[in-house]
Amino acid sequence: MNTDVVSIQNPQGKSPVLLVCEHASNHIPAQYNDLGLSKPAIQSHIAWDPGALHVAQHLMELLDAPLVSQKISRLVYDCNRPPDSPDAMRATSEVYQIPGNENLGADEIQARIDAVYTPFRNTLRQTVDQRITDGFDPVIITIHSFTPEYNGKIRDVEIGILHDSDSRLADKMLATADTRFRIQRNAPYGPADGVTHTLLDQAISRGLQNVMIEIRNDLLESPQARREVANWLAALITKAPTPEKEVT
Ligand SMILES: [Zn+2]
Repeated sequence: MNTDVVSIQNPQGKSPVLLVCEHASNHIPAQYNDLGLSKPAIQSHIAWDPGALHVAQHLMELLDAPLVSQKISRLVYDCNRPPDSPDAMRATSEVYQIPGNENLGADEIQARIDAVYTPFRNTLRQTVDQRITDGFDPVIITIHSFTPEYNGKIRDVEIGILHDSDSRLADKMLATADTRFRIQRNAPYGPADGVTHTLLDQAISRGLQNVMIEIRNDLLESPQARREVANWLAALITKAPTPEKEVT
């Protein structure tokens, strides 16, 4: 495992839930020269999911679940995208241009895949495999945050419950959630936007239950607020009935 790229916390957790945070960090290693971006741009949501790692870490403790998280900004390589996605190394994001991602050569692209995506993906895959070996029926839950305003449009949804072809866990969560937060299925975006790569690659490929949780980042601005969201999500995840095997 490359500990500069990926972190595993609480690997021996007792929950079947395995938490993933692909956009945990806005760290850009020195060799990339900040990708030509200003400090405010690197602090903004284009480089990471602000607050997502904090919520994931609270959930790790509340559920006693392992957590696999990324340690490199998604602008270097977005680990929730396969290498053939045009969004894996974006040259534009919302209103920002990313100079260090423009006109990348094939060698540079491959170097980033090798340096960031492959070690993250392999570590996550090995972690899931180990959980199965240890007798768990893993449930993959990825934790993200999104910006309240995107391209000038205000987003009303507060928490998105996202899924691809396997909606078992999402259905249960949507059916049992109370009205404290405005939650929606596959919002503010969904599988058609290419955001379900980890779910497809790590969970659906093995028949494991899964969901992607997107939290509006203005709900995550203080430690207290992040803890409250995590408490609410932990209760919702725990209320969703224990996963059954997929009926085939
Ligand atoms: Zn994200």
